[in-house]
Amino acid sequence: MKIQYQDSTTTIFESALYQTTSTVINLEKLILIVDPNWLPIEIETIQIYVSKIRYSKPVYLLFTHSDYDHIIGYRAFPEAKVIASEAFKNNPNKEKTIAQINNFDDENYILRNYPIEYPTVDIMVSCDFQKIKIEEVEFIFCKAIGHNSDGIFTMIPSLGIFIVGDYLCEVEFPFIYVSGFLYLETLKKAKKLMEQFEPIILIAGHGKYSKNKKEMLNRIVESEKYINDLIYSIKNKTPFNLDLFLKKYNFSKNMVSTHKNNLEILKKELTKS
Ligand SMILES: [Zn+2]
Repeated sequence: MKIQYQDSTTTIFESALYQTTSTVINLEKLILIVDPNWLPIEIETIQIYVSKIRYSKPVYLLFTHSDYDHIIGYRAFPEAKVIASEAFKNNPNKEKTIAQINNFDDENYILRNYPIEYPTVDIMVSCDFQKIKIEEVEFIFCKAIGHNSDGIFTMIPSLGIFIVGDYLCEVEFPFIYVSGFLYLETLKKAKKLMEQFEPIILIAGHGKYSKNKKEMLNRIVESEKYINDLIYSIKNKTPFNLDLFLKKYNFSKNMVSTHKNNLEILKKELTKS
């Protein structure tokens, strides 16, 4: 499995699929694994890596949100405690998410040596800028809604690590599954967290990490601009130059439908308001 980044505490693995990241952070008294994913051989690589570095440390699994690609490796780490949001815990579509994983495995003839289950949450994030101490490490969490309805941002101030899930990914523009306006609110929270904690590294759910403050902020600006441009074009009935916009992305062919979906969601939101 590709290792996208590694330093003395942090390893970012990158899946061959959608450049989805799985991060392992070796803290003094715990191992944190973020969204272990996709293919069995990739998950095995992460298992082996964790078994090599953990000694007797407890393992925690952090789920940035409940999209099926991010929870697919849950039971590969049966001893781990799970950190996720309250909305993740109360997700009304758990069965649908599990069905998506089973469909994916069926379609691709994939067998796994662990069961597919929806994660049981042990440590719950329920509000913005929530401080939680886990094995003496301080974590700051924020709800991150807009992409889906149960995301979280995670800041580890002692290491300067900022984990953002499917927000601020350089490989793609904002994928809005829930609300464009809530997405904008979430971006504001990202900015606030960055200003307050000045992270050294930003780890996104797909594509490359960033260690460059300017780039981190620019990812926020670009996301805001896209959503605001969409809102402007809907309100003023002016065309949005999709061809020009998609030129920035390597995998733009599949992104047309996501853009159209974003447009529909924002149109609905604008007619309601
Ligand atoms: Zn994702």
